[in-house]
Amino acid sequence: MSRREDMLKEMELTPTWRLREPAGAAQSAALSAAAPAQTETPCPQAVPAARPASEVEARRSPDERRTAIMRMDWADLKNAVAECLACPLHSKRTNTVFGVGDENADWMFIGEGPGADEDALGDPFVGQAGKLLDNMLAAVKLKRGQNVYIANAVKCRPPGNRNPEAEELLKCEPFLQRQIELVKPKLLVALGRVAAVSLLARDASIASLRGKVHQYNGIPLIVTYHPAYLLRSLTEKARAWEDLCFAVKTMQDLQSGAAART
Ligand code: URA
Repeated sequence: MSRREDMLKEMELTPTWRLREPAGAAQSAALSAAAPAQTETPCPQAVPAARPASEVEARRSPDERRTAIMRMDWADLKNAVAECLACPLHSKRTNTVFGVGDENADWMFIGEGPGADEDALGDPFVGQAGKLLDNMLAAVKLKRGQNVYIANAVKCRPPGNRNPEAEELLKCEPFLQRQIELVKPKLLVALGRVAAVSLLARDASIASLRGKVHQYNGIPLIVTYHPAYLLRSLTEKARAWEDLCFAVKTMQDLQSGAAART
């Protein structure tokens, strides 16, 4: 057994995954603080004090907020996520977890939301589930950061690793949508039911969503199990492997212009 397999066995992440065939594609500032000094004669050019960002945010309608987010570039989007107070998850976070990887990737993997490790470090999938995700990627000759971008449906950790609530997903969804628009991946892979349901905007079981090519705003989307679930349910690894092979085949078809639609 190789050192890598030894190590994975230690981490209970075996069996290691290998491709049977080479995968071709495998590859306000709050100016308000400085209220205008009172002068006897009002200055005609006086600018009204800016409202704190959180107040401006709270006054925006959901449509206005979405429109503003859809105009953001990477820098603005990262900033907006880092400063977001739109749902209660912000109050317990250590870090927001924006996303990581190749910003021009063909592959985009979407998880559910940060866990404790991700909250501490500010990057997605850096704990045990992340190790398994890295193994899954390696099995199809992919690597985070190399033609792969990884993000989550929500950017702040739900306390106690509970599932994000509908309202939390809804508030974070424009951020994910903009991330996807900026990356322009050829293929999206939703990791788990929460990410799938959030992206597809309809409730369904993982079983009913697997094995099909769905569409998210015109981008093909495949659904598989969440790596954290696979850590608890090793028997499903074979099914997740089928999903990955299906994703590789779909990417090959997309690259040759032959992808099937559901
Ligand atoms: N689970 C997720 O869905 N995302 C992470 O970033 C980590 C664990």
